[in-house]
Amino acid sequence: MAVPLDSILRPRSLALVGASSRPDSLSGKLLGNLAAAGFTGAVYPINPKAETVHGFRCYRSLREAPQPPELAVIMVPRDAALATIDECIEVGVKGAVIITAGFREGSEEGAAVERRLLEKVRARGLRMVGPNCMGVINTEPDVRMDASFTPAPALPGAVAFASHSGALGVAVLEAARDAGLGFSHFVSLGNSADVNVNDLLEVWDHHDRTRVILLYLEALAEPQRFLALASRISRRKPIVVFKGGRTAAGARAASSHTGALAAGDVAVDALLEQAGCLRAGTLEEMFDLALALEASPPAHGRRVVVVTNAGGPAIAATDALADERLAVATLAPATEQALRAFLPAEAAVGNPVDMLPSATPDNFRRAVELTLADPGVDAVLTITVTPIVVGPLDVARGIAAGARSAAKPVLSVFMTHSGFFPASRAIAGLPPTFRYPEAAVRALAGLGAAESVASRPAAIPAATMSRSAIVERAHVTGGGYLPPAEAFALLEAAGLAVAPWRIASDADSAAGAAGEVGFPVVLKAFGSGLVHKSELGAVIVGLRDGREVGEAARDMCARLALAGVRTDGLLLQRQVQGGREVILGITRDPAIGSLVMVGLGGVAVEVWKDVSFRIAPIGRCDAEAMLDALAGAPLLGAFRGRPPADREALVEALVRLGALAAAHPEIEECDVNPLLVLDQKRGCVAVDVRVRVV
Ligand code: ADP
Ligand code: MG
Repeated sequence: MAVPLDSILRPRSLALVGASSRPDSLSGKLLGNLAAAGFTGAVYPINPKAETVHGFRCYRSLREAPQPPELAVIMVPRDAALATIDECIEVGVKGAVIITAGFREGSEEGAAVERRLLEKVRARGLRMVGPNCMGVINTEPDVRMDASFTPAPALPGAVAFASHSGALGVAVLEAARDAGLGFSHFVSLGNSADVNVNDLLEVWDHHDRTRVILLYLEALAEPQRFLALASRISRRKPIVVFKGGRTAAGARAASSHTGALAAGDVAVDALLEQAGCLRAGTLEEMFDLALALEASPPAHGRRVVVVTNAGGPAIAATDALADERLAVATLAPATEQALRAFLPAEAAVGNPVDMLPSATPDNFRRAVELTLADPGVDAVLTITVTPIVVGPLDVARGIAAGARSAAKPVLSVFMTHSGFFPASRAIAGLPPTFRYPEAAVRALAGLGAAESVASRPAAIPAATMSRSAIVERAHVTGGGYLPPAEAFALLEAAGLAVAPWRIASDADSAAGAAGEVGFPVVLKAFGSGLVHKSELGAVIVGLRDGREVGEAARDMCARLALAGVRTDGLLLQRQVQGGREVILGITRDPAIGSLVMVGLGGVAVEVWKDVSFRIAPIGRCDAEAMLDALAGAPLLGAFRGRPPADREALVEALVRLGALAAAHPEIEECDVNPLLVLDQKRGCVAVDVRVRVV
């Protein structure tokens, strides 16, 4: 039911229901903001007892307004909310913003009222923001609506901002004003009973004025819709997300490695990563990133030059570049020569370009111009500590002149008195300013990340798999762990290679089975109590012939029987030589669905926690990105004289596991541990798998 949100974001008339005439009331603040912003539509405060409120002519009810208002901003007490919505429906209101609190967030009783509200608006096709929200802002010149409680009006700009926390949203708007960051729309979502983040993404996708999307999220409704929308939009408009609050998934009991490693927020992390969202780790980072993205052209590479009047902070910046995996640009000899021509002899013209404390505003201008023109430079970072002779504002003017019409990002650090920042807002063309080099470098890294999202190939359809009878049968018979024969068969049906195996019912038939597999073989016992087999001595590798297998099998069975471990049978498996151990897995997040995981495997996987997750199904790019995210990824490359591992085959295996997961939501957990990844072009082979079906 995708109704455009014009009635909420671009209403031609607005009623404020529950307008109080008290001078210090919230409605007074909201009416004041509407007037100050110069709202282009009509405003009808509704109050049965007052003639005027805060300078506006007042109406006793919605019915008495001169025309049916398009939008109703509702501030009545909670218990009057349902009657108010009835009245809105009766007069033909199209959109509602419910400021009133005390609904789902407060009590079960409030939640019930919220459900009734939602039923009413859904039945009539009315769209509703809130309840429990702080209002809506649209700065477009033909609308100019500030129906919110911001202490200072939002500047017009290119950032669209949605926030689950109203108070935080308002605080960000206030700070943004100081930083010169402008907004197209702001929507305080409150409880998101009807209009949610996804509805706004649909609007902002096609909203030309919006170039950057900023989301403060506490929960994620309709995760699959978010993934589809955000993956598409993020390639054209960066989406910066700060996610507050952790999911409850951390407490889930899990017997698989994958399940145990999926604690906390990994599902949301995976979703945001997969959707191409830039996740800010802190509120400050969210803000800095929005600032850089709004003002800067895209960064087409990672090579950064630092232009400074102080050595120390430039060193800090260079360290931060390394931390953020950005590169220190090498300047062309011609650029160095041109810099040397006007800088004092003691200045350094490499990178950092250290122009010494005596650097003039014109030195900054020329250095910025010259470095921007260097083909080996993708972005310029200027650092200024309070200069000795001139003022920081003069330097800022020089930088602004040098950065004029730059096609590459320029970010500027000013380590100076705080009065500089508000004063510098008046300087036209001044690049985004930061107080510390590390913050600016993080923002530069964000620009780079936005660019790599923008250049992601168009979504390649993920692999699909038809439903497996094995899983269906396990599901209808009550679920549980699949026996090894079925688990291996399932992997093979999904298209993963499995080391050849045979099952023997007892020690006496083990040698014969091993002969069919081919030597050397690995002997394993299996049974419901055998979770981590090698810990119980139930895995023996390197058996070279039937005699060794027979002895080892009898010995293993006797030992396990003595220890009281029930075995259901023996597995003889071809021994795979020289693979690198990787774990692949499937787990389910109750809210988001099936996740696939890859990590550097073996027994220490839960110690290193070097794993990466995505929502199933996945495409090749997702699989590649998952591998790139592993700290231990170099172990898969050429390593200590060995050729690189067969990464292609690993990517393929991951994509296929994703298809298996997506086709079978009944798979609650699956560990393929290890998948042995052979050297280049030789493929990868699963040697151990556990699958639990519910
Ligand atoms: P578990 O994880 O239950 O202890 P595995 O079947 O994973 O048992 O075996 C333990 C380890 O033995 C694996 O991590 C791997 O190093 C090695 N291994 C098992 N099967 C094979 C095989 N077919 N070829 C080579 N190595 C194997
Ligand atoms: Mg294992």
